Amino acid sequence: MLLELLINFCILFTFAVLSYWPFQDVARSTYPFPKTHPYIIGIIAGFAGFVLMQTSVQLSDTIKVDARHVIIIFAGIFGGPIAPIVTGFIIGLTRMLMYDVFTTSGFLAGLNVIILGIVIGAFSFKYPMTFKNAPYYFYYATAQTVLLISYLFYQYSGTLLQIVYFILFSTFSFFMVLFILIELSGHFKKIRHTELLAETDYLTGVYNNRKFQQLTRSFITDSTKPFCMISIDIDHFKKVNDVYGHPVGDEILKELGERLKNLVSPKEGHVTRSGGEQFVLLIPNFPPAMGLDLGEQIRSSVERSSFNVSNNQEVSITLSVGVSSYPDNGSTIHELYSAADTALYEAKATGRNRVFHYTNIKV
Ligand code: GH3
Ligand code: MG
Repeated sequence: MLLELLINFCILFTFAVLSYWPFQDVARSTYPFPKTHPYIIGIIAGFAGFVLMQTSVQLSDTIKVDARHVIIIFAGIFGGPIAPIVTGFIIGLTRMLMYDVFTTSGFLAGLNVIILGIVIGAFSFKYPMTFKNAPYYFYYATAQTVLLISYLFYQYSGTLLQIVYFILFSTFSFFMVLFILIELSGHFKKIRHTELLAETDYLTGVYNNRKFQQLTRSFITDSTKPFCMISIDIDHFKKVNDVYGHPVGDEILKELGERLKNLVSPKEGHVTRSGGEQFVLLIPNFPPAMGLDLGEQIRSSVERSSFNVSNNQEVSITLSVGVSSYPDNGSTIHELYSAADTALYEAKATGRNRVFHYTNIKV
């Protein structure tokens, strides 16, 4: 009996980890057709339940128990309300039709799982299952199954001790797997956080140079669409630091990052800080004229509204902006960046607080 219990636990554990890894770690793997996930998980859990029944622990001639009610709970955690319903039907019908066909115990055991699936599914529409509330669903599933087993024991033969075994086994399996999943989820969260830090500029919270390279590369790979690179540099920023102090300079950089994000996010653009007081924007699906126009919009909006920094000081700054376009001005990151930089240099050289597109300054 101990061996069967162990096998049951291993099957449950394997199902939980294999379903959790691809479906929950969404940041790493984005599976196609997300709407089908609940059904896929429901079917996988149903199959796992079927395998569990092959290794059921025979408590009496007619009664066998396993972790099938536990797997319904995990189906609900991974796949939402639909999954446990699908799992319940698969396990229930299999139990009714493949084992003990037309016996009362077979029918009731199958019906028990179908009802569990439906009730758990229906409740989790209102109270979506999480690691936190899953134990309550588990208590319900165990209580209903214990009631059925008790009734069958009353009808046939069985001892109280066997019911205690069942409760202990279910509780151990459920909480052990739950604990491991919570640990896994914590690790995945930490990995996601670290990945985010690796692509974020520490001061402004916009993307850093590493992410800039990555994004540009992906835009170039998707070479069917034009895009714009807008290089922005604060004019005489050294003077701002000298007059107001470095911390105020930092505040301005942070707010400028925010303002740029607000301006380009509706256009699905990205803001990156390439270092110091220079930002580079990447705007997908943007022909050159629109890039120049957006650059002008950004320049004039910063010129118009000053920055409110510590001690209620108002600081006005201006920007010089250089724009380059793919594919007109280059086909590599380096070429596009150099083109935007040349345009930016032209803006600086001709008096600052202005915008140039590389195409317009080429001789
Ligand atoms: P220009 O109009 O030619 O761009 O003049 P500028 O003074 O902006 O340019 P310059 O390259 O001479 O100086 C850049 C200044 O930006 C110097 C540096 O103190 C400041 N700076 C760079 N990074 C930071 C930062 O993270 N925080 C603050 N507060 N200042 C920074
Ligand atoms: Mg500058």
